[in-house]
Amino acid sequence: LFLDENSPHQKILDRLKHVIGIAHFSLAYSGSSDVEKLSEQIFEFVKHQQFDTFCVRTRRADKQFPLTSPEINKIVGAKIHESLQKPVDLKNPDLVCHIEIFNKQVFYYFQRIEGNRGLPVGSSGKVVSLLSAGIDSPVSSYLMMKRGAHVVFAHFHSFPMTSKASYHNAIKLANKLTTYQYRTKIYLLPLIPIQEKIILNAPIKLRLLLYRRMMVRLAEMVAKKERAKALVTGESLGQVASQTLENIASTTEAATIPILRPLIGLDKEEIISLAKRIDTFDISIEPFDDCCSYMVPENPETKAKLKEIHWAEQKLSDWQQILQEIFEQAEVVQLHFP
Ligand code: ATP
Ligand code: MG
Repeated sequence: LFLDENSPHQKILDRLKHVIGIAHFSLAYSGSSDVEKLSEQIFEFVKHQQFDTFCVRTRRADKQFPLTSPEINKIVGAKIHESLQKPVDLKNPDLVCHIEIFNKQVFYYFQRIEGNRGLPVGSSGKVVSLLSAGIDSPVSSYLMMKRGAHVVFAHFHSFPMTSKASYHNAIKLANKLTTYQYRTKIYLLPLIPIQEKIILNAPIKLRLLLYRRMMVRLAEMVAKKERAKALVTGESLGQVASQTLENIASTTEAATIPILRPLIGLDKEEIISLAKRIDTFDISIEPFDDCCSYMVPENPETKAKLKEIHWAEQKLSDWQQILQEIFEQAEVVQLHFP
């Protein structure tokens, strides 16, 4: 309202819309605490605006102020009404003039802008989000930020056996999400050493599940280093054949800290519409080789039994050592919001 698109104020307003933890905000002007003068200032402002009906709404946090809110409404309203011959409409006015009186300070504004809501990032502690280059995990990470979590990312890639596209896309996604938390760390971990071990030693049907359990363990190593208290994934029940309750139980069992799944009950359409809103969708649909599909059969296990998984993992002998080596090879990229 009343602003040039390129004005610095407009830029600040656009930025505030992305700040998590703000329910609503306004561009307010500082006014006089002398109500006659204040009426003059407000009149100078509204006389250039197009409107038919109007009303004045005052909130007085400072109860020491000599006039009550209805008295202020009356004085300012009368000035506008008499000078412009515009009628007051309390129910459905075209223009609302808000006046707020704080400790000896008076502000007036005309528009309340909806913010992002949620809790300030960091106020709920830290989590590690398993960020693929797909559509779901950026959305689940954003939802955790909205509940006040600071998110550290862990991305797994199968370079050099696959291209490095997922690696670059994951960084792009983490960078986009930095809009909401200002400072971000992303761990980029090579999964190939443990994938090779699994491919050579475990039943082919269990490969995907074993990759997943190893990812969870590596993410937990990141969490330990970062003092994060939970993991986050973009899983949604039944979305793909691998996201069954049995398989979710199998990844859960590999972790010793909670795995949060903010998308568990959402449809793909709902997730896509959120991805578009936070502007990650276009990056997520860029092509990439998914490390989870590296040497995975067409029909991976959908109802794995923990007993079979434990048996298969036992045959991987030194997997703990391999995970330790992968963790030591992790690249860490730090991102900042400009
Ligand atoms: P997404 O859209 O997030 O890739 P998806 O629908 O492809 O999810 P899956 O491939 O089953 O589902 O992955 C489930 C979850 O496992 C992802 O949401 C993500 O949290 C994690 N994940 C999968 N691949 C990776 C990866 N390469 N690096 C980090 N996390 C991953
Ligand atoms: Mg994926």
